[in-house]
Amino acid sequence: MFNSLSDRLTNTFKNLRGKGRLTEADIDATVREIRRALLDADVAVPVVREFAAAVKERALGQEVSEALNPSQQIVKIVNEELKGILGGETRRIRMSKTGPTIIMLAGLQGAGKTTLAGKLSYWLKSQGHTPLLVASDLQRPNAVNQLKVVGERAGVRVFAPHPGVTSEFDTPTGNPVQVAQDGVNEARAKLHDVVIVDTAGRLGVDAELMQQARDIRDAIEPNEVLFVIDAMIGQDAVNTALAFNEGVDFTGVVLSKLDGDARGGAALSVASVTGKPIMFASTGEGVKDFEQFHPDRMASRILDMGDVLTLIEQAEASWDKTEADRMAKKFMDQEEFTFDDFLAQMQQIRKMGSMKKLLMMMPGAAQIRQQLDNFDDKEIDRVEAIVRSMTPHERVAPKIINGSRRARIAKGSGVTVSEVNQLMERFAQAQKMMKKLAAGNMAGMPGGMQM
Ligand code: GDP
Repeated sequence: MFNSLSDRLTNTFKNLRGKGRLTEADIDATVREIRRALLDADVAVPVVREFAAAVKERALGQEVSEALNPSQQIVKIVNEELKGILGGETRRIRMSKTGPTIIMLAGLQGAGKTTLAGKLSYWLKSQGHTPLLVASDLQRPNAVNQLKVVGERAGVRVFAPHPGVTSEFDTPTGNPVQVAQDGVNEARAKLHDVVIVDTAGRLGVDAELMQQARDIRDAIEPNEVLFVIDAMIGQDAVNTALAFNEGVDFTGVVLSKLDGDARGGAALSVASVTGKPIMFASTGEGVKDFEQFHPDRMASRILDMGDVLTLIEQAEASWDKTEADRMAKKFMDQEEFTFDDFLAQMQQIRKMGSMKKLLMMMPGAAQIRQQLDNFDDKEIDRVEAIVRSMTPHERVAPKIINGSRRARIAKGSGVTVSEVNQLMERFAQAQKMMKKLAAGNMAGMPGGMQM
């Protein structure tokens, strides 16, 4: 997600490290670098221009802070400005106080609307809502079926009275406006508190599509019209967003496919050029690959300051409270960290989803991106297999694991002795870090913020 932009910006700041004072020439050079990085990341030209001017003005104006060194000050300014172009404050769904909250999805075909419908409904359901999905995309072959599949995966009911187009040779029949309206009535009758209406998109913006979206909007009067945009489409993003803003006057943006390698900058321009907030981010094909969008956290992530809050939230969502309490207590009591704890942590991490995604949110992740790219989630399986081949005594007293025990463990878990050795070494480091943390010494933490 925004990897190359993130790398470029962090490198720019690195050049400032160690400087006692920033001259105007330093600031100019830095702003130039930032401008180039943003342009190369496909951020729209007017957005870049405004951004660079604001950073320069503030940096020259020197909001002097005793606590920060010059490079930290620039990072702080860039962070705040970045948060600004991403929409400023977090914008949540406006829930209706009378009847169901109506959410309409709009965007080009392939943008990720149907997939998002599943993710959004799954997320709402996990918060105690009772969403209903409505299949108003009768245009794209199999869209209705796809929504049914997505709904099933999310464990959410789908209202789909019309099969829609089932092959590309089919001509569309059925009235999407009627389906949307019936869907909302169904939600009212069956007391669903949220209704999500999936609408048709085309491969490009066209007048007929926009009219249909407008007709649906006027018929159901949604509380939110979410415009879904594929973060990988590059410079076209801005024009598409402007067309949809004009056409359906959406209330919020969803960035999809943020897991891709695309430069993504165009997507970053969307909030700024339309004046509409980014509300959600879609980061994969799975039903859980979805986050609420927090401009401040995303800015920090781009600047490689880590997104520890999102990390914590994802952890909390799947965390086993008893296990967490047990670990916390151990921590406080400065008890020895054992392989059993290590295993328990692995299992917790596995529950949270992809280890790689989690690591990417850590401060300083950009500096170890290469290693992270090579990180194989199957690694966890191997580690688990190794730990499981240890005897209970070995797990709590790893010091006794000598050469012959290592050979036995390697054999038992189907790995090489050197892999066992590597794990032992990593475990020793983790143990050391735990000790440091418990002793209140945060110096052992990955140090993205230390500049
Ligand atoms: P729609 O035409 O707007 O309804 O788009 P779909 O929901 O059918 O998505 C189009 C394609 O993009 C499908 O193959 C999805 O699996 C894929 N897709 C959707 N969202 C994401 C995402 O966040 N990440 C990735 N990698 N793929 C996605």
